[in-house]
Amino acid sequence: MKKDFYEILGISKNASPEEIKKAYRKKALEFHPDKNPGDTKAEENFKECAEAYEVLSDTSKKAKYDQYGHQAFDGGGGGHNMNMDDIFSQFGDIFGGGGFGGSFGGGFGGNSAGQRRVKGSNLRIKVKLTLEEIANGVEKKVKVKRKIQAQGVKYKTCSTCNGQGQVLRVTNTILGRMQTAATCSVCGGSGQIIESKPTNTDAFGMIMEDETVSIKIPAGVVDGMQLKVSSKGNDAPGNGIPGDLIVAVEELEHDFLKREGENLHFDLYISFPEAALGVSKEIDAVNGKVRIKLEEGIQSGKILRLKGKGIPSLNTYGSGDLLVHVNVWTPKTLNKEQRIFFENSIDDENFIPHPEKGDKSFFDKVKDMFS
Ligand SMILES: [Zn+2]
Repeated sequence: MKKDFYEILGISKNASPEEIKKAYRKKALEFHPDKNPGDTKAEENFKECAEAYEVLSDTSKKAKYDQYGHQAFDGGGGGHNMNMDDIFSQFGDIFGGGGFGGSFGGGFGGNSAGQRRVKGSNLRIKVKLTLEEIANGVEKKVKVKRKIQAQGVKYKTCSTCNGQGQVLRVTNTILGRMQTAATCSVCGGSGQIIESKPTNTDAFGMIMEDETVSIKIPAGVVDGMQLKVSSKGNDAPGNGIPGDLIVAVEELEHDFLKREGENLHFDLYISFPEAALGVSKEIDAVNGKVRIKLEEGIQSGKILRLKGKGIPSLNTYGSGDLLVHVNVWTPKTLNKEQRIFFENSIDDENFIPHPEKGDKSFFDKVKDMFS
């Protein structure tokens, strides 16, 4: 069971962004590996806090977490796997750029956290979703070509860096001798190099493999949004951790529904007689058919709001509405009889428009909708 992110940072669910930042800064200083050399528990806490902060400091991630919990990010259980590089890149914004309290120039010392783990590269795919899939949430199976580590690859400790993944470089400057740590170019930072590998693999002992990945897409996603499936990117060589699969959402255009945030719009056309007599109509909403009744004498331009028949909200409970715009279809051709009927009706009191004071004009209605 993963710990609650709010609990980790010791804050309440309605903490402000400033409070979240403050809480993280405090915890990060407390558990920082430099202050707790060799203390694996502190390092674990440190990573936990970084992970919690990564999510809670990002409005869209926080919203997803608030609604779906840890499942929002990994489709069920499992770690989210931030590596130390990710964590230290966070410090740029939390501690105001540059290093960490002066002691973190760059890179991560091999002495405090052991060798760093190399992360595999991310894979990116696009999924196209219909409005119905977006409204109801969907599980998509996609085929991805992943680089994975082949069976039978043997590793040995990199002799260039002695398995540290980093090499220290000493340079003489006018300020004296400076020591900098750099990623070992021989092992790429993993601390290990290949001793032997099967012939069908690349230089890193990797092969390409097709994998079907199942992606749970929550209801209410928006075109352009990116979801992350942890550890479904390319494997990293050696003892590294796999990259992630980044899924970009693409919304397909709907035949007759228009989306506007969480609301949907539908243009309903009814005939002259239907408008005069009243009519019942069935509409294909995103989550099934809805029947609506139009009272007799309904005006063109009327907007009917079907509560909760829109797109579910990603951030809160509840859904948007389906707004049905009533359009009365004026006949374009008339036969002789019809022509006579309308000619006779032209001065008829019933046919003369007389909007009542309370009737809202089309512009008032549009204004109402957006306010
Ligand atoms: Zn090395």
